[in-house]
Amino acid sequence: MPRSIKLIDLAPTMARVLGVKTPPLDGTAIDLVEGWGCDRVILGIVDSLGYGLCRALEPDLPVMRSMAEEGLILRAESVASSTTPAIASILTGLTPENHGITNTAQACESKIRSLLEWASFDEVPSAVVMEEEGARTFEGFVDLVMGVPKSREGGDFDREVLARSLQALKMDPRLLVGHYVGIDRIAHLGGGIEEIREAASEIDGHLGVLASAIPAGSMMIVCGDHPLHAGGLKDVFDSKDVAAIFWRKGRPLRRSLS
Ligand SMILES: [Zn+2]
Repeated sequence: MPRSIKLIDLAPTMARVLGVKTPPLDGTAIDLVEGWGCDRVILGIVDSLGYGLCRALEPDLPVMRSMAEEGLILRAESVASSTTPAIASILTGLTPENHGITNTAQACESKIRSLLEWASFDEVPSAVVMEEEGARTFEGFVDLVMGVPKSREGGDFDREVLARSLQALKMDPRLLVGHYVGIDRIAHLGGGIEEIREAASEIDGHLGVLASAIPAGSMMIVCGDHPLHAGGLKDVFDSKDVAAIFWRKGRPLRRSLS
C-alpha cells in the first residue's frame, strides 16, 4: 500500500529540494525523496490525473510507469475539486481555506506567493508554462512566464506546453512548472475511457520528451490536481486521491526515455 500524502505537501517538499525558504505552510515536506541529491525540480501537473485512473491507464503510460518503478508513486489527497484552487494548493502548500484562491481573478489579486516566487526571491531561476490567464498571475515575480492560449484544443494546448517547456529549459531553470490539460478537456467534452486513454498517452509522450531534455540530477514530479471531476467517469476511479510520481533523472530509463 503506497504511503499517502496530500497535495499541499508538494510545495514544502520541492522547496526543501531546492533549498528555498518558505513562509509557514499547511503541508509538510515528505522525507521519502530526501537523500536523492537533486538540485532541480521539473513539475508536470496533469489535470484530472486521479490515482486510480493513473493506475488503470498505466499499461499505456510507459513513461509514467517507468518513473514510478524507478522512483515512487504515491497516493496524494487532493485538497480541492477544481483546478484553480487545487493548483494554488500545489504551488503554495496552503489549503484552499488558507490561500483563498478560487478563480484566476482572485489569483491575480492575491498577495499570497507560491513556490515559484519564493524560488525567484532566493535567486533560484524558475519558469512556469500554463494557460495564459493563470500564467499572468506570476508575471513580474517569476523569471520566465509562458502562457498558452486557453482557446487551444486540449492536444494542441499540451503540445504547446511541451514546446514552451523545452524552450524554457534553454534558460537553465532550477524549477520548471508545466500544466497539461488534455485529460480534463476530454472529460469535460464527455469523452469515454478510450479517449481519455489517448489523451493520457499523449501527455505521457510529452513527459518522456521533457525527461530526455532535462539534466541528470533533476527531480521530476508528475501529479494530478484533482480526480476526474466531469463526464461519465467522474467518481469511477477515484473519490479524492490523485497520483504523485517522483523520479530522479540519473541513468537513462531502460525502455522509453533513452
Ligand atoms: Zn483541473
